[in-house]
Amino acid sequence: ATPMSIMVATGRGAHAGVLIRDAEALERLAGVDVLVLDKTGTLTEGRPSLTEVVAGALDDGAVLAHAAALERGSEHPLAEAITAGAEARGAARLEATAFAAITGKGVTGTIAGRTAALGNAALMADQGVDPGALADRAAALQAEGRTAMFLAVDGHAAGLIAVADKVKPGAAEAIAHLQAAGLRIVMATGDAEPTALAVAAELGIDEVRAGVSPEDKGALVAELKAAGHRVAMAGDGVNDAPALAAADVGIAMGTGADVAVESAGITLVKGDLTRILTARRLSRATMSNIR
Ligand code: ADP
Ligand code: MG
Repeated sequence: ATPMSIMVATGRGAHAGVLIRDAEALERLAGVDVLVLDKTGTLTEGRPSLTEVVAGALDDGAVLAHAAALERGSEHPLAEAITAGAEARGAARLEATAFAAITGKGVTGTIAGRTAALGNAALMADQGVDPGALADRAAALQAEGRTAMFLAVDGHAAGLIAVADKVKPGAAEAIAHLQAAGLRIVMATGDAEPTALAVAAELGIDEVRAGVSPEDKGALVAELKAAGHRVAMAGDGVNDAPALAAADVGIAMGTGADVAVESAGITLVKGDLTRILTARRLSRATMSNIR
């Protein structure tokens, strides 16, 4: 591509909400055949809201109060959903000490002298807690696309909390167009597999890697590249930075974390996935020198 054609594409991109930081990433996009997409905040709005509270050893008011106490120490989007939901439902205010966030799993702390943990099945396993009958409730909620989190208090399953995160308007349409253009689409998420599969089905995505850590996302990209693919990765979170950096083309949501934007060659200013098609058109025009 000529410097002039790149300048033209960069200017057109800026008008369309596609920021091109790295001209080589733009050039490489035309040849991409696999697109890896993060779920939360990339395919979905990333603004989850509390939908269900299920009582276990504690009643639902206490479940919500304990969960919110733990999440007040967290900056995860799930934490915001839970603290706001607790306030809206008038849950009692409890204080947690000895707070710890466990990346990709959940949060732990001490509430009124008792150990408490809120998070996924992996966190419960780490804590030696058997979710019992709550596991079935979690599975049913996950099948509807909800993210479910178990609460444990003093080593016992105390309850369950679920949140919903809507898919972005235009996401399904963007996926259909990208598939029609011949791209293989893979969803990669730290969320549980049943939840990921439900959201993927809503979007027409049939390849899903769930329960993956930030390092796993990076390894997935590296694995696809090693298999001879040209890989683009789109993501919004701190946990997507390794994969964005590993990809032939990193595409960050401008609505996401700074570190994601800094790790990517291209940024979709408003996080609108249809702009991936715009970026791809710009790339192809640049490579064929058509203006
Ligand atoms: P994603 O890739 O969807 O952004 P993460 O890797 O951040 O997800 O987290 C994976 C899973 O770990 C979440 O779906 C949730 O079950 C659990 N988890 C992570 N952080 C928290 C938290 N602050 N509170 C409760 N659960 C959490
Ligand atoms: Mg995300």
